[in-house]
Amino acid sequence: ATPTAVMVATGVGANHGVLVKGGDALERAQNVKYVIFDKTGTLTQGKATVTSTKIFSGIDLGDFLTLVASAEASSEHPLAKAILDYAFHFHFFGKLPSSKEDIKKRKQEIFSQWLLEVADFSALPGKGVQCLINGKKILVGNRTLITENGINIPEEAENFLVDLELNAKTGVLVAYDSKLIGLMGMTDPLKREAVVVVEGLKRMGIYPVMVTGDNWRTARAVAKEVGIEDVRAEVMPAGKADVIRSLQKDGSVVAMVGDGINDSPALAAADVGMAIGAGTDIAIEAADYVLVRNNLEDVITAIDLSRKTFSRIR
Ligand code: ADP
Ligand code: MG
Repeated sequence: ATPTAVMVATGVGANHGVLVKGGDALERAQNVKYVIFDKTGTLTQGKATVTSTKIFSGIDLGDFLTLVASAEASSEHPLAKAILDYAFHFHFFGKLPSSKEDIKKRKQEIFSQWLLEVADFSALPGKGVQCLINGKKILVGNRTLITENGINIPEEAENFLVDLELNAKTGVLVAYDSKLIGLMGMTDPLKREAVVVVEGLKRMGIYPVMVTGDNWRTARAVAKEVGIEDVRAEVMPAGKADVIRSLQKDGSVVAMVGDGINDSPALAAADVGMAIGAGTDIAIEAADYVLVRNNLEDVITAIDLSRKTFSRIR
């Protein structure tokens, strides 16, 4: 392709909300053999909701939600946002003014008064969060987080968790003062176009793969819904880049689509990194492409554009 053709293609892409950071990335996209999708926030909307709560100690539901929301208040994870929203509505449903502006302001006011004070907060990517509340350690996250801290998961909790996971939901466990006090079921629906995009890639001769930090059961259930057979679950952020490198070993061209901080090593390792426009700045920086419209159809648009520009229409 001539430099002019590359310039034209870059412009056409931009008009469709597909921003490409250079001619090299534009050229590499034509030969993509694997497209690796992150799950949360990429295949899914990244807008989780709480579907159930289960409490194992004598603690009252309101107090439980206050504790969990306080621990999650500084996290930017979609699950954290869902938990805060849920706790907020539980406590304040019907007590808010009606205009949108007012609600936003009132929400912030109420939040700052109502959340408990937190010390030593840390976000543990791929696992959850931990901090101190009233001098005692609280952990909110997945099995790995809980068991790594030497806390036992009782059979009743494990059964409840497995049931959630088989239904494509993510279970968030809560431990306080070295004891599992409860858990929450969360659901994050697929993006509307996810199924058709996966199908489209297959018709183009491209293999879709899903990679996620979430547990195997939930991952398999979501992959099945979206039509992806090749799944890698319980993968830590550095592990996502390893998945890319292992697929590249035989010379295959690999694209990665992701939105999170935890995806940036993989976006950088991929031959073609595509960041979801609504994603975190770190992901956008690490990627070759930015899909501004936050729509997965643009993965196909980007590959099509490259194929057409470099006359490799098959
Ligand atoms: P993905 O790879 O699908 O984008 P992440 O790597 O962000 O998922 O998270 C993996 C898992 O870690 C989540 O499914 C959840 O169980 C747990 N997790 C991460 N952050 C949080 C958080 N702030 N609160 C609760 N759980 C979390
Ligand atoms: Mg994600």
